[in-house]
Amino acid sequence: MAQRIVIENAAIATVDANDTEYASGYVVLADNLIESLGEGRAPEGLEDVVRRIDATGHLVTPGLVNTHHHFYQWITRGLATDHNLFDWLVALYPTWARIDERMTYAAAQGSLAMMARGGVTTAMDHHYVFPKGSGDLSGSIIRAARETGVRFTLARGSMDRSEKDGGLPPDFAVETLEGALAATEATVDEHHDASFDAMTQVAVAPCSPFSVSTELLKQGAELARRKGVRLHTHGSETVEEEKFCHELFGMGPTDYFESTGWLGEDVWMAHCVHMNDSDIAAFARTRTGVAHCPSSNARLAAGIARVPDMLASGVPVGLGVDGTASNESGELHTELRNALLVGRLGPHREAALNARQALRLGTFGGAQVLGRARETGSLEPGKLADLVLWRMDTLAHASIADPVAALVLGAAAPVTASFVNGEQIVEHGRLLRVDEDAVARSTRAEARRLAEIAARG
Ligand SMILES: [Zn+2]
Repeated sequence: MAQRIVIENAAIATVDANDTEYASGYVVLADNLIESLGEGRAPEGLEDVVRRIDATGHLVTPGLVNTHHHFYQWITRGLATDHNLFDWLVALYPTWARIDERMTYAAAQGSLAMMARGGVTTAMDHHYVFPKGSGDLSGSIIRAARETGVRFTLARGSMDRSEKDGGLPPDFAVETLEGALAATEATVDEHHDASFDAMTQVAVAPCSPFSVSTELLKQGAELARRKGVRLHTHGSETVEEEKFCHELFGMGPTDYFESTGWLGEDVWMAHCVHMNDSDIAAFARTRTGVAHCPSSNARLAAGIARVPDMLASGVPVGLGVDGTASNESGELHTELRNALLVGRLGPHREAALNARQALRLGTFGGAQVLGRARETGSLEPGKLADLVLWRMDTLAHASIADPVAALVLGAAAPVTASFVNGEQIVEHGRLLRVDEDAVARSTRAEARRLAEIAARG
């Protein structure tokens, strides 16, 4: 018998295909699924109702979906704060190359906690630093996600093009081609769950054109397609990357990716800032997805992605925090606001995003690029019960006319409750499964330990 939770008296933004909204409506959860929703009070006579939530003063939305992150960077925040991407990477690689399993686990806990308390219900981690002898980093990240209770995709990254091969990372920070492929395949075999309500999935994710070999891209794509999992990488982030690709490969990043099998509906790429019309057309034609990371792009002075043009062409676009060494806040709900505001500073301001489009990027768009749009990303009967109750009746938001505008344009809204898979994981902005204060202490200790090890060289 299904156990039901009834949420009533809330404004609801479903983010379904018609952007259906209810001024005062209800949502019924049955076990881990959304059973029904609509305007007014919930239907009479529902059986097995274990809980009724009076959500007066709240906006209910789908849970937020983060499509690009590097959890380990949680313990290297606030460094190289005035650098562009390449200088920032060169400054940080030697420290990152010293991470171990304990550090990675603590950093994952911190990253996940920060996102979950701000309404993220589906997260991802693009992890690509695997120093020799550092332990089971992938396993520790997945454990942290399970403990926090968020739905999760581990993008098993890799780097095999170091300085000696014309790449950016130092020689000691990379894996071999064979080692990276074998470890990625083992991670897929051990952890990927293809079921509808999967809590853990794995993607194949070589780091970027300037840190991996052409062969790793090609064989990584073959591996992912053989296993039926998704592909993720960084693309077209900066002018320096574009120049690098032209010098090394004689073509721009998008053409290079196409030549290595890296455009397709099973691929999503972070950033995609420096895209010309034909790049955008290639993404649209192949349904390649984009993880838009406006705060990180601003922090590293990378530029402004052409999101309105991508959406107009039919490119799937989600939002990403990116690693917290280039976005110290680590929050996704503020990215809704930044996506809208930063876009309006660009050359296409007349076509820039509105508040509802920004919410769509952070929910349904994210689910699309992670390959989970059938399961999550909008509030519809039969989809997974991943949703957030945002409090809108306090000083910060009570006088804003439209709840969706309040969420996107207003201050970061308090989360009264967040549900993942039908289970409440946040209550009044605090995590229910994890002790946030203990996580704060361990992330601080591990950040210090890493800094000390790195300082010894
Ligand atoms: Zn990134």
